[in-house]
Amino acid sequence: MNFELTSEQLSLMDNVKRFVDERVDPRMREIEKTQHIPDELIREAAALGLFGVSIPEEYGGSNLSRFDRVLVHQMLGRSGFGFAGAIAAHTGIGSEALVTIGDSEQKRRYLPRMATGELRAAFALTEPGAGSDAGSITTSARRQGERYLLNGVKHYISGGGSAGLLTVVARTGSAGSKELSVFLVEPGFRGFRVGRLQETMGALGHPIAELIFEDCEVPVENRLGEEGKGWRAATQTLMEGRPLVSARCIGACERLIEISTDYARMRKQFGRAIGEFQGIQFMLADMATRTEAARWLTYHAATLSDEGRARPEGISMAKLFASEALAFVADCALQIQGGSGFTAENPVSRFYRDARITRIYEGTSEIQRLIIGRALLRG
Ligand SMILES: Cc1cc2nc3c(=O)[nH]c(=O)nc-3n(C[C@H](O)[C@H](O)[C@H](O)COP(=O)(O)OP(=O)(O)OC[C@H]3O[C@@H](n4cnc5c(N)ncnc54)[C@H](O)[C@@H]3O)c2cc1C
Repeated sequence: MNFELTSEQLSLMDNVKRFVDERVDPRMREIEKTQHIPDELIREAAALGLFGVSIPEEYGGSNLSRFDRVLVHQMLGRSGFGFAGAIAAHTGIGSEALVTIGDSEQKRRYLPRMATGELRAAFALTEPGAGSDAGSITTSARRQGERYLLNGVKHYISGGGSAGLLTVVARTGSAGSKELSVFLVEPGFRGFRVGRLQETMGALGHPIAELIFEDCEVPVENRLGEEGKGWRAATQTLMEGRPLVSARCIGACERLIEISTDYARMRKQFGRAIGEFQGIQFMLADMATRTEAARWLTYHAATLSDEGRARPEGISMAKLFASEALAFVADCALQIQGGSGFTAENPVSRFYRDARITRIYEGTSEIQRLIIGRALLRG
């Protein structure tokens, strides 16, 4: 398989890279401290079309290929996971189900405003009692005439506190069954409220929230797809999101390698640049090798998706490998910086904290291994 990029793809990457490096990265300390992304950065991201990459052109998006979305997310990862998370929750898991199984009226109602970033979306599956075992969610949806009543609690929902539209997975069948359904919930619907914003150690700027549904009234026309067929939509959503997580990991690794090589050339100890010591060179070599391998796995998985030949285990391999590679690369980058890497003002310490989430969300490393293992045993 050949991953030579076209001039259009290189220019797409260059535009996002310049925005991230020149506009976002210098403001990450402020974003982390305030847990807020400045409005002008959101406007600039919207002007670049970043909110519309997964939305069909007829609704105002650019509907990039899976591969090109990976390239965009790779560049977003260069500033870590705080700002990038805000774009990712919206263009990845937040819009996937609406784009793939929404009817034309639902799409017409929401997608044009989502493409411009005016309406930002989030995806709510996880609950206090149901994380990796997402099929055991207990948030229920009971039909009553022309509406459903939703009851339950979701938590750890990226951007859930500020989203203008939530794709919510709820149980319409009996406990223990996989009869789930997916609903589009607007925060103004009666019976919905945001609970606590949950403080995290990293990916700051795009807080996670608890969402509470108390006889939340959702019109029947806001059900996505058929009743009881939501499990497939939920797993498909996660499968589409995973290559984008992998891509952000690769971008973060690349940035860390740049920072580390610059530092290794500049920092002198024992009368010479630390980059002249083999111990440092070996770390840099392993960082680059793992990043390159993660890139190939991710590009391969995205290419197969574009060709309609997506392999869930290939997607899991890419997510598993890229997130573990980032953990390694962030650890080495911090080591190369010595004490300065441990200071809060050094961006490497931010990447080190942010890296930790990528082995947890959109399926932990253990769940990726289960998917790969089961595929192997199925033969
Ligand atoms: C910052 C952040 C953002 C998030 N954003 C969203 C979001 O936008 N929407 C959303 O719906 N959710 C979101 N989540 C939730 C996230 O997807 C879950 O945290 C994740 O799926 C793990 O679930 P859990 O935390 O309940 O851990 P658990 O499932 O309780 O797992 C605990 C440990 O047990 C392991 N484990 C569990 N089952 C097995 C098994 N069968 N075999 C081996 N090991 C196992 C896990 O790998 C883990 O190590 C977010 C979480 C965080 C922290």
